[in-house]
Amino acid sequence: MLPLVRSHQQYQSFVEQQLRIHYGNGTLLFVAKDWSLVKKFWITDLSCTFRLLEGAFPCRGPRSIDPADLLRSYLLMLQVGEPSITEWVNQLHRCPLYAILSGFEYGKTPGVGTFYHFFKRLWSHTSANLSPKLRLNRKKVKGGKKGEKAPTKAYSKIANLMAQLQKRSATKPQPFDRLLVLFQQQFLTVSATLGLLGDTNALSIAGDGMPLQTATQVRNKRLCNCRELGIVPCRCYRIYSQPDCDMGWDSYRNRYFFGYHLYTFVAADSPYDLPLYPRLQRASRHDATSWVVSAREFVERFREYTWDKAILDAAHDALPIYQYLLSRKVKPFIDLNLRSTGSKGFARMTSHFPLLGFRFVKRGWR
Ligand SMILES: [Zn+2]
Repeated sequence: MLPLVRSHQQYQSFVEQQLRIHYGNGTLLFVAKDWSLVKKFWITDLSCTFRLLEGAFPCRGPRSIDPADLLRSYLLMLQVGEPSITEWVNQLHRCPLYAILSGFEYGKTPGVGTFYHFFKRLWSHTSANLSPKLRLNRKKVKGGKKGEKAPTKAYSKIANLMAQLQKRSATKPQPFDRLLVLFQQQFLTVSATLGLLGDTNALSIAGDGMPLQTATQVRNKRLCNCRELGIVPCRCYRIYSQPDCDMGWDSYRNRYFFGYHLYTFVAADSPYDLPLYPRLQRASRHDATSWVVSAREFVERFREYTWDKAILDAAHDALPIYQYLLSRKVKPFIDLNLRSTGSKGFARMTSHFPLLGFRFVKRGWR
């Protein structure tokens, strides 16, 4: 059955009433850190969560818990620094403050399964993974020197990717759309209204990827007997337990890692550099490729924001990126990549657009 949904004012009244019951007689006390948690969740209005996820709830069966409470509880878990859902469920049993701030009556908190059921509703795909588990054993990506960006991908590859994306429908549904809608409507729009993103009619957007390690090594199972026959390494099909992840190069730590790249657009010309569009990409994906995918998705999904400047590091120094930005009247500020393969983006750029009006100083645009 559909859940009973509260307004934010009803949630606030609930918190006030419950705190009086459990903390009013002085047997339980707050510490200073607790007040900052109370303040954060007091002003965070998540009451639209059910409306945004409505299609994911069945009309029959037992009554569901208001998803706003589960989302709030999960955010509180992250604020407290607890990484495990199982341990968090125990903490909700132990600590009245955590249960109340989540929106649950102390003693009537949900179990582990309820949380995982909620996470499934945020992912609109029948499988937990986008890639098939059975796939070829790929070659490892080639790393570089410490602190050095990987060479920018061949320009033709980036240009081809852009051409392919143009042909595809921009509004193609993605499994993470529900999560993105929650992020956009309950967080990003609020930040924009409060002026925390800077001028949304002329946004300066910086984009970069950060490594997100999910395991210490590739998890796969061999299906062939090449090793016994002395054929090492082999590129045969294997079964991967995390097929959406692969090996990537972390240029900052100078090492390989297994997992994702979290490629994020942030509002750079604002007091807090808040994220605008976070997107997980496989670890081996080059930042320039991730940027192309994110830029296309961002422009289509966030039509109310106007992009004015793009601030990117040397990994994005590629001619198709300059061309894409200038065709949309976005000013590019891209660091030069001294390891670029083929002709340099900037060098080619100046021959194509000699009157850009930017001054080039040492290793970047000013
Ligand atoms: Zn083999």
